[in-house]
Amino acid sequence: MEKYVYLFSEGNKDMRDILGGKGANLAEMVNMGLPVPKGFTITTEACNKYYKDNQTLDKIIEEEINDAIERLEAVTGKKVGGMTNPLLLSVRSGSPISMPGMMDTILNLGLNDDIAEKMAKDKDSIRFIYDSYRRLIMMFADVVRGYSKDEFEKIIADIKEEKNYTSDLDLTAEDMYDIAMESKKVYRKLVKEEFPQNPKIQLMEAVKAVFRSWNTERAKVYRKMNNISETLGTAVNVQEMVYGNLTNDSLTGVVFSRNPSNGEKDLYGEYLEKAQGEDIVSGVRTPKDINDLKKEYPKIYKDLKDISKLLEKHYKDMQDMEFTVEKGKLYMLQTRSGKRTTLAALKIAINMVEEKLIKKEEALMRIEPDKLEEVLHPSFDKEALKKANMIAIGLPASPGASIGQIYFTVEDVINAKKEGKNPILVRVETSPEDIEGMSTAVGILTVRGGMTSHAAVVARAMGKCCVCGCHEVFIDERHKTMICGDNTFEEGTTISLNGTTGRVYEGEVALSESGIDEAFETFMSWAVNTKKIGVMANADTEKDAEVALSFGAEGIGLCRTEHMFFEEDKIFAMRKMIVASNSEEREKALKELLPMQMLDFQNLFRVMNHKKVIIRFLDPPLHEFLPKTKEEITVLAKSLKITDEELTLKIESLKEFNPMMGHRGCRLAITYPEIAVMQTRAIIEAAIRVTKDGCEVYPELMIPLVSDVNEFKYLKDIIKETATDIMDKYKVNIPYEIGTMIEIPRSAVMSDEIAKEAEFFSYGTNDLTQMTYGFSRDDAGTFLNDYYEKGIFKHDLFKTIDTSGVGKLLDVSIKLARKTRPTMQLGICGEHGGDGKSVEFCHKIGLDYVSCSPYRVPIAILAAAQAVIKENN
Ligand code: PEP
Ligand code: MG
Repeated sequence: MEKYVYLFSEGNKDMRDILGGKGANLAEMVNMGLPVPKGFTITTEACNKYYKDNQTLDKIIEEEINDAIERLEAVTGKKVGGMTNPLLLSVRSGSPISMPGMMDTILNLGLNDDIAEKMAKDKDSIRFIYDSYRRLIMMFADVVRGYSKDEFEKIIADIKEEKNYTSDLDLTAEDMYDIAMESKKVYRKLVKEEFPQNPKIQLMEAVKAVFRSWNTERAKVYRKMNNISETLGTAVNVQEMVYGNLTNDSLTGVVFSRNPSNGEKDLYGEYLEKAQGEDIVSGVRTPKDINDLKKEYPKIYKDLKDISKLLEKHYKDMQDMEFTVEKGKLYMLQTRSGKRTTLAALKIAINMVEEKLIKKEEALMRIEPDKLEEVLHPSFDKEALKKANMIAIGLPASPGASIGQIYFTVEDVINAKKEGKNPILVRVETSPEDIEGMSTAVGILTVRGGMTSHAAVVARAMGKCCVCGCHEVFIDERHKTMICGDNTFEEGTTISLNGTTGRVYEGEVALSESGIDEAFETFMSWAVNTKKIGVMANADTEKDAEVALSFGAEGIGLCRTEHMFFEEDKIFAMRKMIVASNSEEREKALKELLPMQMLDFQNLFRVMNHKKVIIRFLDPPLHEFLPKTKEEITVLAKSLKITDEELTLKIESLKEFNPMMGHRGCRLAITYPEIAVMQTRAIIEAAIRVTKDGCEVYPELMIPLVSDVNEFKYLKDIIKETATDIMDKYKVNIPYEIGTMIEIPRSAVMSDEIAKEAEFFSYGTNDLTQMTYGFSRDDAGTFLNDYYEKGIFKHDLFKTIDTSGVGKLLDVSIKLARKTRPTMQLGICGEHGGDGKSVEFCHKIGLDYVSCSPYRVPIAILAAAQAVIKENN
C-alpha cells in the first residue's frame, strides 16, 4: 500500500523524489544526530493525488497525517490543541528540485483564542504569543484563503504611526494583543467567516494550501525558466515550531558553508535577533553579519561552524542552511546545496578537489557549461571606475557589471526591453511576483534586504548583476523617480551597477574585458585534458582569433570571408563587385578586393601560427550587402560613374524573393568563377608570404552551400588550378585541402558521392536547420515563439540542435562520408557548436570537432569534457 507520510526518522537524503529536497535533507540530518525540530513529511505523491482527486485530500492521507501527529505528540510530550502544553507547528513546502521562495509556508499553526490566552502568562509572553497569533491569522488569510497581507500590515503601520514608534520592536504587549484582535476582524471582513479555532482544521487546510501553491503563476514561471517538470509536485513538511523571536537569546539566520559570491572558504551569512525566518527573507529588517555572531554568541557560532563542516563533508558540496536559536539552543531547519555564482562555483569546485572532498571529474560536472558565460562577461574598467560618479552604495549581492536604464515596475521593465532598452529593475524590495521583471532586466537594484533576501538569492541564481540593501536610494513610486542625495533620476535614466562591490554610478561606465582568474584557468585545463572532441572557433578577424586562442580554441573552424568586408572601405569595394554589370567591371572590383583580402589573411595566419584555419569562400546573402540608404546609393553610383537611377534599377534587378535560398554560397562563384579565383589567390599568396616569415599555416578552403558533387567539382578544379599556378610561380608548396560545408539536406544524403571529391566536411547547422524545416532563418523569429510557447517545440531550434531530425541527417551523412573516406575530418560550425547539449550530441555521433564563436569556446570545451565523463559513468 502506498505510504504518504514519513516521520523524519523514516526518511533519508536519497528520497528527495517523494520527500522533496527539504524533507529528504531534514530526515538525513535527523539520521546524522543533528538538532532538528521533530516532524514529518507528506509526500509529493500525496500532492499529485490531491490534484488527481480534483483538489481534495484523500481520507487515507488525512488518516496518515493524524497518525503522524499522534506519533509527534508522543515524542514531544505536547498536544495539538492542548491547553497545558500545546504543540505548535510549521507547515512548509519542499519540492524535489529547489524553488526558493516560490511556494508557501505557514507558521504558528495550532494557536487559537483559548490557547493564546492560556499561554500568555506575563508581559513578555503576552507580546510573543499575540505576535505569533497575529502572524498566523495573516499567513492563513494569505496562503490558505488567498487574501493579500496588505490590510494586516496596515494595522501595524497605523499603530506605529499613531504612537510614533520607529520600529516593530517598540510595539508593546498590549499593542500586540490589539493587533491580533484587529487581525481577526480583518480576517472576518475579508474571508466572510471566523478565523478557524480548531487546530486540526487549520493544519489540514494549510497542507492543502501548500499543495495548491505548487500551481501559482510565479511557481509556474520559475519552473519554465529553470526547465523543471510540472509533474514533480511538492512535499509538505510539518514540524514542531521553534522560536527565534521568543527571548533575548533567541535568533534566526541563514548561513552558507562557503561564500556563495566568491567561493571563499568561510561561514557566510546573516542572522536577526528576536525574529522569525520570514523576517530575514522578506528583507524588511536588515540582518547582522554572521561574523557578529562569533563575537556575540561564540558557542552558537562554533556549533554552527562544526555542523556546517559536518554537512559539507557528508554532502560533499557547499551547503545553504537555515537555523534558529530558541532560548540559546541551536536548531537546524534546513540544509541544501547552496546556489552560487559561477565564479564561486569554480573556486569551490577547485578547493574541494584540493581538499580531497571530490574528484576532478565531479568538479567538472558541477558547473553547467552555459553558466560559464557569467565569468566570461566583462566587468567595469578600473580606470573608468576611478573617474565615475558614484551615487549610492549597497550590498554586493550578485557580482558582475550592468549598464542600463532604470524602471520601477515589472511591466515597465518588460515594455522597455521590447523597445530595445536595457532595463534595470529598481525596487524597494523584490518579491517572487517580480520574477519575470528580474529575468528581463539586465540588473537589479533594491533599497532594502540583505545578502540572502529574495532579490539577492534569485539574482545570484540567474547570474544577474544585483545590488541590494541600498538605503541611500529613495524611490518615489508615484512620480517614477529615484532620489539619491540631491539628485533625482527619472525613469529611463542610465546608471551603472557594480554587483561585485555594491556601488551604483551615474551614467555609463566603460567596461573592461572578462573577469577570468586563476581558478577559471585551472578548471578549464582539467576540461581540456578530459575532452575528446576538438574545439575550434568561428573567427573572421585577428581580434576574434586572439580571443578564441586565449580561451583555448585549437584552430579556426570557420572564417566567413564576407564578414571580412564589413568595414566601411571594404564593404564599398564588395558592393562594387556585387553590382558589377559585366565581367570587366567585376574583375576591376575584385582587383580592389584582392590586396585587402590578402592582408587580412596574412594577419589571421600570423595569429593562428601552427594552427588550422578553415576559410569559407564568399557566402553573402545579397540583401545583407546591397546599399540601402539614399546616401549609400549616391556614393556608389558616383564611383561607378553611373546615375543614382541606373544603380537603383540594378539593385532592384538583384533583389530576390528569398535571399536565404537565393544566389549565395557556391552558386555565386558558379556564375562568377573569378570570385573563387581571387579568393584562392588571396589565401595562397598570403600563406606564401607568412611562410617566408617563418609561420606555419594550414589553410583549408571550404566551399559553402553545395548540393551536388558536380557543383563542388567545378569549383574545386578552378581553385586547384589557381593554387597550382601561384605555387609554381613562387616555387613554394603550401599544403592545403579543399572541402565543403554540408548545409543542405540533399548534400547530407549524398555525402558518399560528395566525399569522393571533398577532403573534409563542416556541417553548417544554421542553414541545415533552416532547410530541413523549411523555415527561413530571417523570418522564423516572428512565429517560432508561438511554437515554443505552445510547447510544440521544446527548445530554440537555432540554438540547440534538433537531434531527431537535423541530427539524423548528420548521422546519415557521417556514415556515408566515412564509407567513402574513412579518416575524413568532420566538424560542425553552425551556432549549435557553442551550445552545451548540442556539443554533447556532436561528441556522441563521432564528429572530430565543434566550432563556435570565441566567447563560447570555454562552454564547448566544458560540455565536451562532460560528455566524456557521462559516457564513462
Ligand atoms: C551555417 O549555415 O550553419 C553556417 C555556419 O553558415 P552561415 O551561418 O554563415 O550561413
Ligand atoms: Mg550557412
